[in-house]
Amino acid sequence: MANNGFTTTIVHSDRRASVEHGAIHKPMHPSSEYAFADSRELAAVFQGKAGFTYARQGTPTTAALEDKITVMEGGTGTVSFATGMAALAATFLTLLKAGDHLISSQHIFGNTNSLLGTLSDLGVQVTLVDATDARNVEAAVRPETKMVFTETLANPGTQVADLEAIGRCCASRKLVYVVDNTLTSPLLCQGVKVGASLVVNSLSKHIGGHGNALGGAVTNTGLYDWSGYANIAEPYRKGNPVSWGLTQIKKKGLRDMGGTLSAEAAHRLAVGAETLALRMDKICSNALALAQALSRHPKVAKVHYPGLPTHAQHERAAALFGKRYGGLMGIELVPEIDVFDFLNRLKVLALATHLGDNRTLVLPMAHTIYYEMGPERRAQMGISDNFLRVSIGIEDIEDLIGDFEQALA
Ligand SMILES: *Cc1c(COP(=O)(O)O)cnc(C)c1O
Repeated sequence: MANNGFTTTIVHSDRRASVEHGAIHKPMHPSSEYAFADSRELAAVFQGKAGFTYARQGTPTTAALEDKITVMEGGTGTVSFATGMAALAATFLTLLKAGDHLISSQHIFGNTNSLLGTLSDLGVQVTLVDATDARNVEAAVRPETKMVFTETLANPGTQVADLEAIGRCCASRKLVYVVDNTLTSPLLCQGVKVGASLVVNSLSKHIGGHGNALGGAVTNTGLYDWSGYANIAEPYRKGNPVSWGLTQIKKKGLRDMGGTLSAEAAHRLAVGAETLALRMDKICSNALALAQALSRHPKVAKVHYPGLPTHAQHERAAALFGKRYGGLMGIELVPEIDVFDFLNRLKVLALATHLGDNRTLVLPMAHTIYYEMGPERRAQMGISDNFLRVSIGIEDIEDLIGDFEQALA
């Protein structure tokens, strides 16, 4: 399978291991507990041998999904979670301690921004930097710095972080480099290629695609040597040091914190994942056509989309993401337009939060996800009151352009 293409590999991934009865999908295993015929085997699995004990720590269904994500990311292992936020929270909370320093991109998802506030409350020092230039990351490094975090392509501003140069900076200083790959998905960007240590994906978005299951995942790229990382607890300092970090995330994040993905949701996400490349290609071509059309429209003040040559990181996005620019765009309407009236005139687009869905979704950011953070931080992030986040779906492009035109008329 190793030389097959992305979709071939994904649709046949369950069959890399033997599947019960030759089923083509890994079956759903909703069982909470797993019984053993041999007590020594029971003890061995509790002590770290591969196997299943209690569903809070995973099931054969979540394990099959995790294998799929690992293959997509070209990683060495994956742990799944109930949501993308659970995956991020588990990563930060299990690898950082009070007194440690985290450098994060300032251009990040609103709820992640709020999570970083929780980390600060717990005594982790957090510095936000403009990660579109790796020199800002470099300049923020201190002796207590343990980790650097950035989104590959930022939600919602679409800034593209200086991913490769940050990777080099982290490698030379032995910092854990975590990237949130949600907006690009492993089809457009593999964290391992930019030097990341760990890759987080919200499976609720592009990987599921259908908008009826939530999930998250942390994938180990295998690039980081955890033997030098002080915060790994003694019981997890066993075996190949390359996997220690992910083991700790799994033990503490799933077993102790319990943010576990259900078998039902894992199954739905695995089915969605099979069509990622087909959907993503259509989404990217739709988004580029819509961004081009809207950037010419007199009632649109600005379109933030990395596929446009006017985007500050257009060249970088083209090089990093294979000339595909994702499905998310920021649109600023001219100030004369009442944003709420405009939204009420839309007929095809759904007024909903979420992204990476088959349907095109639109959200006024300042009044929703960024409401809580207040005007000052919004201004710092470049979110004006007329800023709309649009997540492009797989609809017919004429219908999307037509809906904008009638609502702007
Ligand atoms: C949505 C999103 C998350 C959170 O994922 P959920 O599955 O909704 O918890 C994290 N990061 C980014 C970039 C996102 O867009």
